[in-house]
Amino acid sequence: MSSELFIFGERFEVRRSRSLIVDFDKKIVELDPEKPNHLRRLERVLRGRLFFELESLVQEYAKKLGVKFNRITIRKQRSRWGSCSINGNLNFNLRLISLPKHLIRYIAWHEVAHLREKNHGRRFRELMRNEFGNFQELDRSLRKYWHLVERSDLLSKVQVLQ
Ligand SMILES: [Zn+2]
Repeated sequence: MSSELFIFGERFEVRRSRSLIVDFDKKIVELDPEKPNHLRRLERVLRGRLFFELESLVQEYAKKLGVKFNRITIRKQRSRWGSCSINGNLNFNLRLISLPKHLIRYIAWHEVAHLREKNHGRRFRELMRNEFGNFQELDRSLRKYWHLVERSDLLSKVQVLQ
């Protein structure tokens, strides 16, 4: 088992233990990775943190872009960071928990911007550039992080929980 987990871009050491502890100050996660119950509770902690982060970002960005959103959901997806549905629901991948906050902000802006512009055309790219002048560089970082996250055994175990 990989002995690390990234939370908000920071490396947490993972230690095997009989009880679950997530220590955000010391950046340590203690658990028994074979116990579904531990994984489930870890998932709940990660979801909670991620939701808290995303909720305020989405509110701020929706206001800034003059759009209304319906609901924010966090899903376990294998193919993308986020998506936006026609009825204004924003879906974010639980994997986002591993990204540094500036990249989470970028993804949140991307999905909220889709409430204005559905596809990735010129006007969409303008919206991206307005807020993130370096968006192409950010796209590159995201690809790097995607591979990093894919390698995390612990997150993979959480991803497949029912
Ligand atoms: Zn998009």
